[in-house]
Amino acid sequence: MKLANITVDPAKCTDPYGCRECLRVCPTYVLSIRAKQGPVKFKELPPTAFVVQSTNPPACTGCRDCVEACPTKAIQISFN
Ligand code: SF4
Ligand code: SF4
Repeated sequence: MKLANITVDPAKCTDPYGCRECLRVCPTYVLSIRAKQGPVKFKELPPTAFVVQSTNPPACTGCRDCVEACPTKAIQISFN
């Protein structure tokens, strides 16, 4: 089985917490929001300190719902 390679362009996804559309539509909970610098007190960081990451690639079905829902076209998916 091929694993999903999901990349999110941080230049296009600048406020993950304010948006969250990709997390909302993903049916299998593949994506998460993480602080770039690791565990921290989230409320003390600016929006740009966060990124969307694929934290459960085996669960990705390739439905592309996240790609279509993203308002800034920040997500790319391939299967290698
Ligand atoms: S392609 Fe579908 S299953 Fe995979 S991360 Fe996007 S919404 Fe989730
Ligand atoms: S939908 Fe796009 S802009 Fe919104 S949080 Fe996800 S990757 Fe970022």
